[in-house]
Amino acid sequence: MNKSKNSVAYFFVRWLLAMGVATAFAGSAQALATGDLQSVVDEAHAKYKGLKDGKNADYIPELAKVPSELFGIAIITVDGKVYTAGDVDYSFSIQSVAKPFTAALVMEEQGVEALRQKIGVEPTGMPFNSVIALQLNEQRSVNPLVNAGAIAAVSMLDAESPEQRWNKILNWYSELAGEKLSLIDDVYVSESETNYNNRAIANMLFNFGRLYSDPLEAVDVYTRECSVGVTAKQLAMMGATLANNGKNPKTGKQLINKDNIPELLAIMFMAGFYDEAGLWAYSAALPAKTGVGGGIVAVVPGKMSIVAFSPRLNQAGNSVRALKAIEHISRSRSLGLFGHNPE
Ligand code: GLN
Repeated sequence: MNKSKNSVAYFFVRWLLAMGVATAFAGSAQALATGDLQSVVDEAHAKYKGLKDGKNADYIPELAKVPSELFGIAIITVDGKVYTAGDVDYSFSIQSVAKPFTAALVMEEQGVEALRQKIGVEPTGMPFNSVIALQLNEQRSVNPLVNAGAIAAVSMLDAESPEQRWNKILNWYSELAGEKLSLIDDVYVSESETNYNNRAIANMLFNFGRLYSDPLEAVDVYTRECSVGVTAKQLAMMGATLANNGKNPKTGKQLINKDNIPELLAIMFMAGFYDEAGLWAYSAALPAKTGVGGGIVAVVPGKMSIVAFSPRLNQAGNSVRALKAIEHISRSRSLGLFGHNPE
């Protein structure tokens, strides 16, 4: 036998096999990744759509009117692929899910250090609207994901008038969503008529020197930002921009300096669920933000954003179905930061 011919053939066959296996493997990995994201979204929706626990927020009267059965889930990957189940085209008020996006804008304008010094980054372990947290914490405004810090974040934006401040925020959210967003007027009016606690917080912060514009103007712009309407899909694109290091997967625009993303996600991880942040980190292990409109955005860094929306809330003001759905997606596919074993 001709040894050298034999070994040429041997290497040729090995090469062919290797190519074939590699292609087959790449193909199946691709198919699995794509198919699996759709199936996990469907799975989470089916698993929790019968869950009736909790109730709509009603301290903002308009939110009590949102149909409680709505339930949508959307995943958008960093390469812009979209996977959805349920009511993903219903426009609900973003509420506190807006807060990290305004914090991102403050970071853009003034840097992460200014945000740390002028607001703070400590989780409170208390409800989102806590007044006592400001009394107890030396930084007063505490962090940009509770009401106090979020109102302070609004007051930090460079603007000459409340109108300019508001337009800047609305345009910014629209850039992040990759499409034009707008205010849900009824929610804005309803919250404006009832937001005495937020006015108290703003006045107190101003008194402490921790609010950087007129307090009632800051509350008004904050109330508008909470009343912006988003669908689960639009919110998932905003989250996917964070997952994609600040670059919008749909428009390709680098909106957030990628160096600010780790700090932003760190705050979301520590404080995104208020007094349930520890439990959330323990079970889902993802940076996330909730809102009393029933939306939750979670970020799997470098991979995707997972959004769920359903109006009924638990005691902490977090959507019962949405948190269960995202927790299921994270745990069953080992997406959490610390490599939880699949359920
Ligand atoms: N706009 C709401 C408020 O200030 C936001 C609260 C929330 O979503 N947790 O009370």
